[in-house]
Amino acid sequence: LATHYLDRIEASDLNAFLHVDRQLTLAQAADADARIAAGNAHALTGVPVAHKDIFVTRGWRSTAGSKMLVDYVSPFDATVVEKLHATGMVHLGKLNCDEFAMGSSNENSAFGAVKNPWDTSAVPGGSSGGSAAAIAARLAPAVTGTDTGGSIRQPASFCGITGIKPTYGRVSRFGMIAFASSLDQGGPMAQTAEDCALLLSAMAGYDERDSTSLTPEQGGVHEDFSRNLNEPLDGLRIGVPKEYFGEGLSADVESAVRAALDQFVKLGATLVDISLPNTALSIPAYYMIAPAEASSNLSRFDGVRYGFRAEGYKDLQDMYRKTRAQGFGPEVQRRIMVGTYVLCHGYYDAYYVKAQKIRRLIADDFAKVLSGPDAVCDVIMGPVAPTVAWDLGSKADDPVANYLADIFTLSTSLAGLPGMSIPAGFGQGDKNASRPVGLQIIGNYFAEAKLLNIAHQFQ
Ligand code: GLN
Repeated sequence: LATHYLDRIEASDLNAFLHVDRQLTLAQAADADARIAAGNAHALTGVPVAHKDIFVTRGWRSTAGSKMLVDYVSPFDATVVEKLHATGMVHLGKLNCDEFAMGSSNENSAFGAVKNPWDTSAVPGGSSGGSAAAIAARLAPAVTGTDTGGSIRQPASFCGITGIKPTYGRVSRFGMIAFASSLDQGGPMAQTAEDCALLLSAMAGYDERDSTSLTPEQGGVHEDFSRNLNEPLDGLRIGVPKEYFGEGLSADVESAVRAALDQFVKLGATLVDISLPNTALSIPAYYMIAPAEASSNLSRFDGVRYGFRAEGYKDLQDMYRKTRAQGFGPEVQRRIMVGTYVLCHGYYDAYYVKAQKIRRLIADDFAKVLSGPDAVCDVIMGPVAPTVAWDLGSKADDPVANYLADIFTLSTSLAGLPGMSIPAGFGQGDKNASRPVGLQIIGNYFAEAKLLNIAHQFQ
């Protein structure tokens, strides 16, 4: 298996992988064979997996898609990496992504854009673009991704694969290079919900090395996420938010999503009209909170402690300045500037505190329809993104156009809820007919097993 995928990776020109090492992979494959021969295999033993380059890995470079970490090798494995490899999964390599996971098209990687395997003139989505492209092009059967504001769901949608962002705190952030700590969450991406369930069962769980990891008392208990896959969907109430079907949603995405909803009705579900009135505010709130946290997290890249250091500096201040100016790409620098600004004394209340209040209102929108005795629906469905994948280069110089395309994924992240994307057909017309459309399924806290069940019944 490992050889099969390594050969496919070598023959591919999608730029999905940043680091491949045949020898390291084959050594792990030999260990997996020995474990299988010894009779103590896990269901995932011997199955290859590749990791988004946000997860640090011992023995493999961990760049976060940044020049700042170009040759960085971590002395330890991220918890997610450690847990998956403890099952005997075989590491195929590190996957390209937007720099520090900031982006929606993978064009912000310092190592070049990734191409969408369905149409190589299209973006794969981001920031987990290498992860999604690798699954879609069959370069790996399983990958990891991270989602801060949609980075698992949106590339899954653009590449026609399945991905789930768990409830915030389910999956350890230890060893995940931090972007926005109150939003970052790792998760699996694969061809099917069934595969994602197996992977998530191995990835999730309380980790004392991550202070935001959910403790067993808070619900961070081990779960078999495959346990409900075969339950029928009779009586399932699906909330359909009117704000997810308004202006800005392209006709072809809408028709694929509506066709998927009809399919769920045939499977026994009922559709309920709901409203999530603060949806539009998710963009300004997220694009203050995420940069604020990023500006703080990225202060550690100072040319001393990790990776890259500029040459030809006069003194310490000059070394910091040159290292950060040369090491960070334009989008990362933009976010550090915005984040520093909104955290400034004098602007903090007007911007950052206001954004946190909006975050609460957004979480309340979801709670009103999903929680408690007055809940009107069991899950929420809608599009993942307003359009199919756009052309490479077409929005590369327009950060705001990229931000606006995150409208349907940011709220879930701000609320900390689980969400997933499953393939729901293709766009329309000469150009879009080969570009996939994803259906988004959002659930209440800890509803991952239900989301995976619903996705599995559809698939
Ligand atoms: N597109 C969003 C951003 O650029 C989300 C990225 C993510 O989830 N990592 O911040």
